[in-house]
Amino acid sequence: MLRIGLTGGIGSGKSTVSRRLAELGAVVVDADLIAREVVEPGEPALDQIRERFGEGVFTADGALDRPALGRVVFGDPQALADLEGITHPAIWGRTAQRLSAAEEAGTAVAVHDMPLLVEKQMAGEYHLVLIVDTDEEERVRRIVSNRATPEAEARSRIAAQATDEQRRAVADVLLDNNGAPEALLAAVDRLWEERLTPFADNLATSTPVRAPQELTLLDPQPAWAGQAAREIARLRHRLGDLAVTVDHVGSTSVPMSAKPVIDLQVGVESLTVADSEAFRAAMDQGGWPRIEGIDQDSSKDGQPWPKRYHLGCDPAVPIHLHVREVGSPGWRWALLFRDWLRSDESARTDYRAEKHRLAAAGLQRGEYADAKEPWFDGAHERVEAWAQEAQWTPEGEGP
Ligand code: ADP
Repeated sequence: MLRIGLTGGIGSGKSTVSRRLAELGAVVVDADLIAREVVEPGEPALDQIRERFGEGVFTADGALDRPALGRVVFGDPQALADLEGITHPAIWGRTAQRLSAAEEAGTAVAVHDMPLLVEKQMAGEYHLVLIVDTDEEERVRRIVSNRATPEAEARSRIAAQATDEQRRAVADVLLDNNGAPEALLAAVDRLWEERLTPFADNLATSTPVRAPQELTLLDPQPAWAGQAAREIARLRHRLGDLAVTVDHVGSTSVPMSAKPVIDLQVGVESLTVADSEAFRAAMDQGGWPRIEGIDQDSSKDGQPWPKRYHLGCDPAVPIHLHVREVGSPGWRWALLFRDWLRSDESARTDYRAEKHRLAAAGLQRGEYADAKEPWFDGAHERVEAWAQEAQWTPEGEGP
């Protein structure tokens, strides 16, 4: 099941998007609704609240008196922490339950409509994060005019949330809602058809997304770093301790002229880990199926450099995932080659020229990797000389 996180600042139009996704066939799990459900009469959380805060936060008919509870926890961090210690586990438990029930029922796409997704740093939990993006002044106008909320309150609620910049950083998809509602709905419909549906199909069938057959070299794209960072957060979340290091490598990490592919390197303690049930299940669920039969790099020292290879399932962002043993020559080389290119402009110029020469020769995807090898072999000494001079040591990103 494709798990989508949906958020946006208050008044951005998140509920509008969530309703449309439900109409299109997604199961929507609404965080606000669940937060209310867990304190309804008969819920265990309600008894715990009574125990901690007393009858004063209940109405005469035994329901939770939200305004009264709000006054008690307002400005009292300990009271707030106690309240959240009661409600949050209940909310997370129910959310997980709803999502697994949807999955068992054969749902293809589930959407977690979650106002605090960014504040709670949950982006890595989802296959994709959708952010509804609307200028602050426009949001204030809409909240004030459509919800009869005083402007000062609208502003203070906006100020209490994450900033637009923080939200944009975790957005796989930014849905602009500064225009007419129809434009937003049309964008959601397009997204559903062009990305969410094929992504869900690929995920359900472990079908990898391969880069296009013809070789296109793009100039460095500002989007690459963010795409890699978000994928790394997802890998970290899914793999936990199974991954010792996770790094953006390859030309898009430099960045320099490249095929639009995000290469990532997952460092494992040993390839036994990469072949374990737990690792493979996490990779399948995360949407990175194993590609069998590709289990070594062409080495720079005559020895086999073993690895495991996975591809992503998101049709919009081709991901190549190399799993290598931390400290192994292949793991080291990926980091070294990247750092060398980052540090040396003439290295980038030479490598770029070689790529364009091969692209102009009309090579296809598979041939290209092999054709690059002679150049790599030639560069090998130069790279190692640089490593020595710069006293370079490999540093993979840990958790
Ligand atoms: P959120 O759930 O993000 O707080 P809503 O979807 O409830 O936001 O939208 C906030 C308000 O703005 C609602 O009253 C909604 O009808 C209105 N709204 C949403 N999108 C637009 C738009 N593109 N133009 C004008 N008003 C809009």
